[in-house]
Amino acid sequence: MEQAPAETSAPIIQMSGVTKWYGDVQVLKDINFTVARGERVVICGPSGSGKSTMIRCINRLEEHRDGRIMVNGVELDHSTRNVDVVRRDVGMVFQQFNLFPHLTVLQNLTIAPRKIRGATRQEADEVARYFLERVRISEQADKYPSQLSGGQQQRVAIARALCMKPQIMLFDEPTSALDPEMIQEVLDVMVGLAREGMTMVCVTHEMGFARTVADRVVFMDAGRIIEEGAPVDFFSDPKQDRTRAFLKQIM
Ligand code: ADP
Ligand code: MG
Repeated sequence: MEQAPAETSAPIIQMSGVTKWYGDVQVLKDINFTVARGERVVICGPSGSGKSTMIRCINRLEEHRDGRIMVNGVELDHSTRNVDVVRRDVGMVFQQFNLFPHLTVLQNLTIAPRKIRGATRQEADEVARYFLERVRISEQADKYPSQLSGGQQQRVAIARALCMKPQIMLFDEPTSALDPEMIQEVLDVMVGLAREGMTMVCVTHEMGFARTVADRVVFMDAGRIIEEGAPVDFFSDPKQDRTRAFLKQIM
């Protein structure tokens, strides 16, 4: 189902004046970034430009220094309670899958709902089997991650995040570690999610995906958001030299 247009709903993610330092190196500079409920945003930019750091600040895998971050009405500050609330609502998928190697696929999907949401084994199993079906991997439920292909592991990682019933899904280069023939099966799952109205922030260089589902493409360089726009404008008429140079390299 389509969500309300961006203009009519309060932002689900709001970063204003955000900075981040590692020691004396500043890696995020005055980040102002807003995402509406149901919006799909693709973030691109050169390696080291701060894309991962920025999205990891959204679920406080990294702590920002200056500025404010509000996620789903909760401010990310030093309150651990707030961090717990936000982490429950924000699912994340990483380049390297990050599945628990010693747990089966099904156990990977049920551990957080049981431990964090307090679901019973039966409830958690039901939800897990539903999402395994959705990512078309039901028959692998009792295998271990190492027995699966990269594409299958990444689909499991997406299903695992969905089992927590997140309001927002963050993806950090989810197809970059995959063999080329497995990229599409993961993108297909992401496109499906986007079509259902999931709020998504995806760091990816899959520009076909960006054109298909993104409401907005954001280009970062050297810790700043340099340019953003609807895909049709962003790709056909980038305004900044750095954006043009980047697009030339990857397309
Ligand atoms: P991107 O995802 O765009 O490649 P990152 O957010 O990973 O960029 O990194 C931004 C900058 O921060 C890079 O210069 C990187 O070397 C640096 N950086 C990332 N993580 C750390 C860390 N844990 N400690 C120190 N520097 C880091
Ligand atoms: Mg990165």
